[in-house]
Amino acid sequence: MASSRRSILSLLLFSPAAFARGNSSARAPIIDVHLHAYDDDSFARPNPNPVTGIAPPLRSEADHMQATLAALRRHSIVKGLVSNDSCPLDVLCRWRAAAPDLIVATPHIEGSSASPLPDIDMLVSEYQAGWLGAMGEISAQYGGLAPDDPKLAPYFALAEKLDLAVGVHTGLGPPGTPYGCCPDFRVTLGNPKLLEGVLIRHPKLRLNIMHGGWPYLQETKAIMNVYPQVHADLSVIDWIIPREEFHDYLRALMRAGFGKRLLFGSDQMMWPEAIGMAIEGIESARFLAPGQKRDIFYDNAARFLRLGGV
Ligand SMILES: [Zn+2]
Repeated sequence: MASSRRSILSLLLFSPAAFARGNSSARAPIIDVHLHAYDDDSFARPNPNPVTGIAPPLRSEADHMQATLAALRRHSIVKGLVSNDSCPLDVLCRWRAAAPDLIVATPHIEGSSASPLPDIDMLVSEYQAGWLGAMGEISAQYGGLAPDDPKLAPYFALAEKLDLAVGVHTGLGPPGTPYGCCPDFRVTLGNPKLLEGVLIRHPKLRLNIMHGGWPYLQETKAIMNVYPQVHADLSVIDWIIPREEFHDYLRALMRAGFGKRLLFGSDQMMWPEAIGMAIEGIESARFLAPGQKRDIFYDNAARFLRLGGV
């Protein structure tokens, strides 16, 4: 959801003991479509986990990468899409080199003063080199840009041309975001209905509405109804918002008929334990049948990412 530089306030809260249930080891494979990597500077004063209030014992990019890779493997995650906004993508290079079978590297695109838009020619050459596997998180909401802002047009055009899965941040941000890290952030720029112009202009775009559009339920349903190519990940809302609210939202998307287009994501930022917390958010949804959980944890993403086998 947010870069490490952002102040993230505590939201609310579950018993840490409840999360331990998400740490079971023997489970079917999972795809996590939403993870973040950080450089060394980000760990000077790492933010505490907003749910547990515990600061991560991580002091470097390497610490964070190793702890995250260990958590991914512990939870049987077989693919993880990891984004980072370093330039020229050196952090992502190291993650990819450390676990090439597990990590899908994807450039982070924002357009804020802290994270300027990447050079499009640089991106083209890196995609041509063959080691980047998708595009996103596009978190332009933090930079004050609507999805259909002309500054973002070259990135969507590139994604459509190269047939890349693209993830766009929608919906929520940490409380107080415009007063802190990101003065150009606006709630209204995260409304999924603003993606419609992009979908009209790029009908072949393989789009993931990140964070499931929460709390814009009606607009998310409207977009997913009319544009059957659109998927939605459940990242961050599956562990950071109140569990009952998440389950109500998930149940509404299921009832609307989108169970084959919902994707598991953790939005693991600086807290590797969030991966287990996010899994628990899905596992604890009693209204989901086992097959529906399999769709969310693996099958839907395997189809969306064209991994084959489903
Ligand atoms: Zn996000």
